[in-house]
Amino acid sequence: MARITPRPPPTQAVVLSCLNRCCPVCGGPLWFAYDNARTVTTLEVVLGVTLQVRRCVNPACAFYHRPYRPELEGRLALPHHEFGLDVIAWIGACRYQDHDTVPEIHRALINRGGDCPARSITCWGAMRNW
Ligand SMILES: [Zn+2]
Repeated sequence: MARITPRPPPTQAVVLSCLNRCCPVCGGPLWFAYDNARTVTTLEVVLGVTLQVRRCVNPACAFYHRPYRPELEGRLALPHHEFGLDVIAWIGACRYQDHDTVPEIHRALINRGGDCPARSITCWGAMRNW
């Protein structure tokens, strides 16, 4: 079932830039290419994340024109996922430490103020054969 309520708007804004300014292949400079925006829901806040993506400008390089995304993006959430890694870890702890069921986890998440569809919890469980 598709989401029937809109996602909550971000409560905090974060700008992430690349820590590495040199190409990992040729060592040349990585130039700023574009901004990319995504929203990540954590247990405490809804983050509006602006990612500053860079690219190698050396045409002879094997990494030429490929996007180099900020390294810290991987600490927030999985690629293409709506919820942060802390939400996934909390759900995993509820499931494996407390042996909660999916409806119990969903109820506890809503009581914490989260807005996570039960389908997402079930999907994460399916990835781990709950
Ligand atoms: Zn390069």
